[in-house]
Formats: sequence, structure tokens, C-alpha cells
Amino acid sequence: MLPTIKALIIQLSRLPGIGERTATRLAYTLLKWKKDDVANLANSLLSLQENIRTCRICNAYSEEEICPICSSKERNHELLCIVETPHIVDLIEGAGNYNGIYHVLGGSISPIEGIRAEDLNMNFLEQRIIREGISEVIIATNLSIKGETTAKYLFSMLKNRNVKITRLARGLPVGSDLEYFDGQTIAFALEKRNEIK
Ligand SMILES: [Zn+2]
Repeated sequence: MLPTIKALIIQLSRLPGIGERTATRLAYTLLKWKKDDVANLANSLLSLQENIRTCRICNAYSEEEICPICSSKERNHELLCIVETPHIVDLIEGAGNYNGIYHVLGGSISPIEGIRAEDLNMNFLEQRIIREGISEVIIATNLSIKGETTAKYLFSMLKNRNVKITRLARGLPVGSDLEYFDGQTIAFALEKRNEIK
């Protein structure tokens, strides 16, 4: 195989769900594309780096310093949903029945992988809750061991604050990552959330 094609296949294989066979098929498809189309694809990839940053308030992906959700006056700014990744924000937003704001941790606590609470976007969470007058925190971390560990940590951190703390409703399979569900399912679990005390 030509080294140039092989190099592309190696890069494409790094994407989730893309094995070597699919990567090979994609590479040969791209070879047949017109130069303009390839340039458009390349520019889209580059603009991810150039245009997307994280929101200064919630840490979700944004094209501005402050994301449209944080800056919206239509949202309920007393209701804060804590999620692990920006992907979950998009899933919930896609379902369309959550009107609060978010806080993106950027991962979950995992002693095995050496990820501690300090490594996540948690340092200013308490301050944020006080400063913004949050009345309810919804812990929407994954239902995996890491997600539950993170949820317990958040609960112990926030339980003495004057804030209601809720967790996603049971019903989603235990041990699962929310990314595998559609927004509707997560939105339903959000709607039926339970208070933890
Ligand atoms: Zn934001």
C-alpha cells in the first residue's frame, strides 16, 4: 500500500468505531473526491481547533467566551445540571425539555486512572453555586462506577450548602454511560429525577 494512503488510514482508525477496514474504505473514497471537497473537509477539521473553545462559566464547548446557554435570559439560571462531558449537554439540549443551565466536569473521578476531583472542573463549583444563587443541582454523571463515585463526591461536597440535590431517575441501565442513550431517554431520567439526602 502507498505510504500516503497508509498514513491516512492510520489517522482515520483513531476515530471511535472506525476499524482498519472502515478506515481503508473511507481513505479510498476520499481519494476519489474532488480537490474542493477534500479542502472543505480539511477546513472543517481545522476550524474545530480554531473556533471551538470552552465556555468560561460552564465549561461546555462554545464559539464565544460565554456559551449561548449561559448567556440566555430564557433559561432557568437557578437549576444547574452537572454532567461529565459537553457531549451530554448536546444530547440533553437535543431532547429539548430541559431549561436550566449546565456545569461540565470534563470527566469523572477515577482512582484507577489517577483522576482526582482536583483534576476536574470542580474547584469553583461551590463558589459558582453560591454566586449564581443556584437552588437545585442535578447530578447527571454516568451510571458507571466512575460516574457514581463522582456523584457521591459531589453530594458530600454540596450537602451542607443550601441547595436541593437530585440525581437522574433510576431506569437507565446501571453501569452505563449516558453517551450511549438518546437525548429523550436522558431527558426523561432528568424529568423524573430524585432528591438525594
Ligand atoms: Zn456556558
